[in-house]
Amino acid sequence: MDLSEFLLEKTDTIIVNWVEAVRQDNNIESANDLSRKGIENHIGHVLSALATVLSESQNSEIQPIVDASLHHGSLRAEQGFSAAEIAREYRILRQVIFSILEPQLLQASTSEVMRTVRLINIVLDEAIGRCFQSYTEQRLSELEQLQNHLTLNNQELSRLVRANQDNLSHLAHELKTPLTSIIGYSDLFLRLQRQKTKDNVNNLEHIERVLRSGRKLLHLINDALELSRYEAGQMKLHPASIHVDKLINDVYEMLEPLARNKNLPIEVDCDRAPDEVVTDSLRLQQIVTNLVSNAIRYTETGKIKITCQMWENDKWAIAISDTGVGIHFEDQTQIFESYFRVALSDKSYLPESTGLGLAIVSRLVKLLQGEIKLDSQVGVGSTFTVILPLSVKV
Ligand code: ADP
Repeated sequence: MDLSEFLLEKTDTIIVNWVEAVRQDNNIESANDLSRKGIENHIGHVLSALATVLSESQNSEIQPIVDASLHHGSLRAEQGFSAAEIAREYRILRQVIFSILEPQLLQASTSEVMRTVRLINIVLDEAIGRCFQSYTEQRLSELEQLQNHLTLNNQELSRLVRANQDNLSHLAHELKTPLTSIIGYSDLFLRLQRQKTKDNVNNLEHIERVLRSGRKLLHLINDALELSRYEAGQMKLHPASIHVDKLINDVYEMLEPLARNKNLPIEVDCDRAPDEVVTDSLRLQQIVTNLVSNAIRYTETGKIKITCQMWENDKWAIAISDTGVGIHFEDQTQIFESYFRVALSDKSYLPESTGLGLAIVSRLVKLLQGEIKLDSQVGVGSTFTVILPLSVKV
C-alpha cells in the first residue's frame, strides 16, 4: 500500500489521537473547554491534502490546506488560543502523523522515507504559516476594535471632565451671590455698630471675623473661577496696542498704598521698555498686579522694584523683584501649581493666601504667548521675570 493510501486509511485514528493529545497537553489550556469538533476543526482537510501531495498518481492539491489553515487561524483566535498554543498543537500533529506512519516508513526505501518526511514537513509548514497569518489578522482587527473603544472612552472621559469643570464654575457662581451679600450686610452692620457702641468690642470682633472669612472665600472663588475658565478654554485673548508705562502706572497707583503700609517703597524703572506693545491689556494688568501684590505680601523690609526692558527676538520683559522671604529651590517649580503654598516659618499661611495666584499668572502668561522665569534666594528675595512678544499672534 502506498503512503498516501495508508494516510487516508489512518485519517480517523490520527484525528482521534491528535484531539486526545491536544486535550491532555497542559500547555494548551485554551482547548480544555472545547468539544472534540471544536479542537478537530481543519485537521481533516490538512490530512487529505497531505495525502494528495504524497500520492504520486494524483496532482498535488495544496489549495485546500491554504483555505482550511486560514480558517483555522481565525477560529483559534476566536477561541482565545495563544500563538504558543497553536505552535504546540501543530507540533503534536507532526508527532502523531509520524508515529502512525512509522510502521510503513520502516518498510520503505531510504529515498522514499526522505521524500515523505520532506513533503509532510512542507505541507505542515504551509499550514502553520497560513494559520498564523489569519490568526494575526484576526488579533489585529480585535486590537483595532479595542483601540476604537478606548478612543470612545477617552472622548467620554474628556467630556465628563469638561462637564465637571462646568459644574464647578456653576457652583462657584451660586456661592458668589450669597457671599457678596453676607459681606455687604456685615460691612454695613460693622459701620453702624462703630458709630453706636464703642464698648461692645467682642461683638465687633465676631463680625470682623465673618468679614475676613467672607472676603477670603470670595477671593478663593474668584480665583477658582478664573482657573476653570482658562482650563475650559473660555479665556479669550483681546489684543490691542497699549502703552507699557501707563499700564505699570495704573498698577503702581493701585498697590502703592499697600506697600506704604509696610514701609516698602516701589521703584519703577521702565526707561528701556518699548513704548507700545500689542497684547491683552486686562490680562497683562492681572499678571503684574498679582506679582507685585505677592512681592508686597512676602516682603517685610527693603523694597519692591518693577523693571521693563526690550528683550531679544522681538520680545520685551517685565521683572518684579523684592527683598522678601525668598523661595527654596525645591519649591520653585511647584509654586506655579494650583493650591501649592509654602508655609511661613511659624507653619501658618498669610490670611489671603489661596495658592492659586501664581497658577493663574502662569496660565495668563501662556495665553499672552510668553514665559515666566523665577530667580529666588531664601532670605534675600525673589525676581519674577515675564517675557512677552512685542505683538501677540492672533
Ligand atoms: P498665595 O495666595 O498663597 O500667595 P500664589 O500662587 O500667589 O498663592 O503663591 C504660591 C506660593 O508661592 C505662596 O504661598 C508663597 O509661598 C510663594 N510666593 C509667591 N510669591 C512669592 C514672593 N514674591 N516671595 C516669596 N514667596 C512667594
